[in-house]
Amino acid sequence: MRLRLEPASARQPTTHSLGPSCSRRRRVRTFTEHALRLLYPPSCRGCGSRCRRPGFCEPCRELVLAAFEAICPRCGRPFPSRPDHLCGRCLARSPAFDRARSCAVYARSASDAPLARALHGLKYLGDVSCARPLTRILFERAPHDRTYDAVLPVPLHIDRLRWRGFNQAILLARPLARRLRAELRVDGLVRVRPTTPQIELGVRERQSNIRGAFAVARDWSPRDLRLLLVDDVFTTGATVEECSRTLRRAGAASVDVLTLARAL
Ligand SMILES: [Zn+2]
Ligand SMILES: [Zn+2]
Repeated sequence: MRLRLEPASARQPTTHSLGPSCSRRRRVRTFTEHALRLLYPPSCRGCGSRCRRPGFCEPCRELVLAAFEAICPRCGRPFPSRPDHLCGRCLARSPAFDRARSCAVYARSASDAPLARALHGLKYLGDVSCARPLTRILFERAPHDRTYDAVLPVPLHIDRLRWRGFNQAILLARPLARRLRAELRVDGLVRVRPTTPQIELGVRERQSNIRGAFAVARDWSPRDLRLLLVDDVFTTGATVEECSRTLRRAGAASVDVLTLARAL
């Protein structure tokens, strides 16, 4: 099984095929983007300093994309030295998902880590312009070795969705599904009850807080489907574990997890 990640340019229609008016529109848009960039230079999403392109400045980018030496092949937990090996938690109890991977790592205590700051801007300050550079990291670092029938963002409860106005997992999952040429199933999983934000809880509390919080939508079945579950941050894994359990119980053939970040 190979997960095909094609360069975006390979699927973009050419200006020739779309006619001269589209080409003119694109030139106008490019000119407007350049003019706006001159008037309002973009700032780094990690440290706030000015940078040439929207996203992260070079030092922040290096921090965000810092590689780790080894991981747990099951849950993706990073280790400082080789070789890869199963972590204690996966040895004690197999997770409900088949494989979890994260594209970048930051220390949970380091709230000023560039990636943590960008995610905070997106989730709590409503700065959706952070979504694009974050999606770029997802494209660059996602594993390329599996294909999926559907991509599912971890759902928010309707109350939280109303409060925030958007689901950050959908912002990440949508462009990823397009690139993977897999179906995007925004409403495949439903959050059936509100939960205390996991960030406020310890490991054990997180598990009981999230238990039974998800259900598969009545008008959809994941039976025999290979699924990719997408979320912004993997902390203890309690949320994606519960989602995966729900999907496996409903007959999913496999559930992989991809998160943008891993908070250690
Ligand atoms: Zn920076
Ligand atoms: Zn593990």
